[in-house]
Amino acid sequence: MPKFVTTIGLEIHAELKTKTKMFCDCLNDPEERRPNVNVCPVCLGHPGALPTINGNAVKKVISVGLALGGKIGNMSKFDRKSYFYPDLPKSYQISQYDEPLVLGGSLKGIRLTRIHLEEDTGRLSHQLSGTTGRDQDHSYVDFNRSSMPLMELVTEPDISSPEQALEFAKELQLILRYLGASDADMEKGQMRVEANLSIAEPGAKLGTKVEVKNLNSFRAVRDAIKYEVERQTKIIEGGGKVVQETRGWDERGVTVSQRLKEQAHDYRYMPEPDLPPLVISDEEIGEIRASLPELPDAKRKRLTESYGLSEKQLDLVIAEPKLADFMEKTAAELKELDSAVFESSFPLILNYLTSDLRGLMNSAGTDFDKLKFSPKYLANLILLVAKSSVTSRQAKDILAKMFETGTDPLEIVKSENIGMSSDVAEIEGVVVSVIAENEAAVADYKKGKVASLQFLIGKAMGKLKGRGNPEVLRKLFVDHLSK
Ligand SMILES: [Zn+2]
Repeated sequence: MPKFVTTIGLEIHAELKTKTKMFCDCLNDPEERRPNVNVCPVCLGHPGALPTINGNAVKKVISVGLALGGKIGNMSKFDRKSYFYPDLPKSYQISQYDEPLVLGGSLKGIRLTRIHLEEDTGRLSHQLSGTTGRDQDHSYVDFNRSSMPLMELVTEPDISSPEQALEFAKELQLILRYLGASDADMEKGQMRVEANLSIAEPGAKLGTKVEVKNLNSFRAVRDAIKYEVERQTKIIEGGGKVVQETRGWDERGVTVSQRLKEQAHDYRYMPEPDLPPLVISDEEIGEIRASLPELPDAKRKRLTESYGLSEKQLDLVIAEPKLADFMEKTAAELKELDSAVFESSFPLILNYLTSDLRGLMNSAGTDFDKLKFSPKYLANLILLVAKSSVTSRQAKDILAKMFETGTDPLEIVKSENIGMSSDVAEIEGVVVSVIAENEAAVADYKKGKVASLQFLIGKAMGKLKGRGNPEVLRKLFVDHLSK
């Protein structure tokens, strides 16, 4: 039995993927590099500027709530959360306090407390000059991010290990992407994780809670929690007391104290007077529920049953819905063309998609939904390979041409006269001439030098420009040389 039990709850923020910001018509463009371009009096917090609610952002949060089995209330509202910070010119953030959009739900066995909608803040950057003195130091503020729609998900303290926290965060990222709610790219700050963590002896009540921030990668989530558990264990074992505080994950691999934790009432929450309450009808909720796509877990089950993928293949396909889609469409086409070939050659589809085609796509910087050829053409190519009508070397070249021009491989084979010839008359003519032209090799073979046969087959293959069926060639040579 471990000496201490770890209790972890997560708070995860995700930037929602909408065209405009949360409370104004400015563009919600996380890629914008020029500072203070997407701004207006509302998101700059000018006095008297009036916010309006972005309905799309509301729908996205509801879709996340439904996907995670949460309860969507018919009434919700926005509140002001007051605090001062230079990236928050209004001195309050519009958030949701006691009536969030979503209550409850669960993911990977972890219960969810709530999901609410709020606005993001601006972004500060500090340029410190180092040794020349404070006069040279500058801080800049960029309000492009100010009032971008932000979803906050809070879990119950059901997590007990760094691995479990990591698994939760990864699955949430997938679901957000499947729903089109957020790109949830942690490196870009589109998904930000905070962990509330405490340790206590088994059976004892919860220990002092420490909040760990700045978890900007999956690795940071795992490593910071691991570090913090070890740090707190050492303190308690040394007879000390863990202090309730906020700590930040530092890239050097440690957590460092940032500030003592504020209590909720410090924020002086009050209902936002400039926005009406959100009234959501059952009909609207029903519509959103009906539009939910197939979610990762359901897809895992279905793909496993339909194609018997290995765990590694499954992870690959689940992480990339466009790949999964192309694979499934190709499989359906191949099944229609020849169900026996489908049974035996399904792994070829994934092979082409994840190696040869992936290579071509990477070098051209393109994606599955922008390919010039359809899944049917890939099925045609796989059928050619499976039936030994083309060699795998030839298939590579054909795939490159399909990628370039979008042409059906059947057309390519015909127009360029490639593909393996099994035409005995044509091949026999070549065999006879090769035998006549290579007396020495023929003599060697007749003396028992088996390697000479391979040499002769090679010569014939050269004359056929690689189109000879090696099996047919071998048989014809053996026949002719034994005469
Ligand atoms: Zn604005």
